[in-house]
Amino acid sequence: MPEGQAIHRIARLINERFEGADVVASSPQGRFSDGAHLLDGLTAGRAEAWGKHFFMPFADGGSTAGTDGGPSSGMPAGNSSPGEEAPNSAPLNARNAMAPSAAPLAETPLGGTSLGDDGPVWLHIHLGLYGRWHLTGEGSDAIVGAGVRSGNHNAVNVGAGSTVRLRLAANGFTADLTGPSRCEILDGPGVRAAVSKLGPDPVRNEPGDRERFVEAVRRRRSPVGQLVLDQSIAAGPGNIYRADCLFRVGISPLRPGNKVSAERLKALWDDLVETMQADVPDGVIRTVPESLRPEPAEASDVRNPDAAEGADGEDPEAQRFAVYHRTGRPCLRCGTPVAEKEMAGRRLFWCPSCQR
Ligand SMILES: [Zn+2]
Repeated sequence: MPEGQAIHRIARLINERFEGADVVASSPQGRFSDGAHLLDGLTAGRAEAWGKHFFMPFADGGSTAGTDGGPSSGMPAGNSSPGEEAPNSAPLNARNAMAPSAAPLAETPLGGTSLGDDGPVWLHIHLGLYGRWHLTGEGSDAIVGAGVRSGNHNAVNVGAGSTVRLRLAANGFTADLTGPSRCEILDGPGVRAAVSKLGPDPVRNEPGDRERFVEAVRRRRSPVGQLVLDQSIAAGPGNIYRADCLFRVGISPLRPGNKVSAERLKALWDDLVETMQADVPDGVIRTVPESLRPEPAEASDVRNPDAAEGADGEDPEAQRFAVYHRTGRPCLRCGTPVAEKEMAGRRLFWCPSCQR
């Protein structure tokens, strides 16, 4: 399952293609026809991730601005001065002015929208184990990564038997969504209710998040290795960050949450923030500390562990991970064989010597 950093990356990729655009939405598979019909023709706002959840606002916006037919209706977005705007559009435009970046494609009536604002129609997606986006259009050819691919999926994209739950199209781009565990339309209160069930997200790392995380872990007696995967305690980390960030800060995943000091949990939160944020741009998880990383084999390719294995012999994961998927191999810090056990239904990896 894609971890949170991958969903943040997907939100960026989707925004680069669709933010501010009037979208054509459909459900080739048919299972999301009502939702797609609702989105069809609306203007896409800025998508955001919270943990493994993806939220994207849509509103009746861009194309309706020109319905009065004034002389400015054919002008490129951004060329009209504020004085020409109708009075009732002032609040939206004021928020546009505060948006961090100009919309690349069109005027963005949703530019200043915050997660869960009332008004927009919200698309909520959780990819789950099998969900994936397929992107086509300029700049999309080489996209790889957890939960997203460039769009060559002809076997599934047309006609009866299509697995495309939702297709968004605009400006020569398409984004096809297949196999999500969740794909639904929400209103503002619905988004806020969904987010309220989630813990702080290390990629977002908002004020107070570290303290929320530390308090939530220290209230519980479950092993910290289990708590880190609990999305109501920390939203976004999956099995790789769970294993490797606990290793990086030296905490045994078996230690009960209430027996880990606040100082060590702060260090764990900060490490989740650092590693997950660093992995957002290309979506590739690299959690092995640079100082412990073995000399890379000549032909190794961090994107392709199989290729690395051919060149490197037997420990390709060590180019990317410290303990994850390295059962029985020597700990990169102390040489003790990496241990594995199942915890909460997932494979857990750790060093029994240097994690306490
Ligand atoms: Zn060790």
